[in-house]
Amino acid sequence: MSPKYSGTCLCEDEGGIRFTISAEPIDPVCTCYCTHCSKGAGGIGQVMVAFPQDSIKIESGEDRITTFTFEATDSGKPKDKMFCKVCGVTLWTAPDHWKKLRQLLVRTPVIDGRLDWKPTVELTSNWRAKWTSLIAGAAQQ
Ligand SMILES: [Zn+2]
Ligand SMILES: [Zn+2]
Repeated sequence: MSPKYSGTCLCEDEGGIRFTISAEPIDPVCTCYCTHCSKGAGGIGQVMVAFPQDSIKIESGEDRITTFTFEATDSGKPKDKMFCKVCGVTLWTAPDHWKKLRQLLVRTPVIDGRLDWKPTVELTSNWRAKWTSLIAGAAQQ
């Protein structure tokens, strides 16, 4: 399949992570504001969408992709977080449920030009920073 999307980490040298995705997203774009996601993002939360693991091809920088396995999740099941060990950008995570489905939750900001993909589901919205507003039209979970 030909690539539909491409993305990068923040590294500017030739060894930086570049990837392509040859499938469409599986589920709606969602946000999560839980403590793990906001700390992981260094922001108010994560914006992510699932893709089939096999549709993601690492074009360069594979040696920089590092996995951190977080054990103390709310579900009690381990969650893998893949990030660039040089620039620190989180690429995607594989919580247990998605790992079994062979899917990765890709962070939309690392996909070129996809920052505008609007989340239609807000997870853990009661943990959202008090100074932010609900996303108009998005379902709250
Ligand atoms: Zn990097
Ligand atoms: Zn979360």
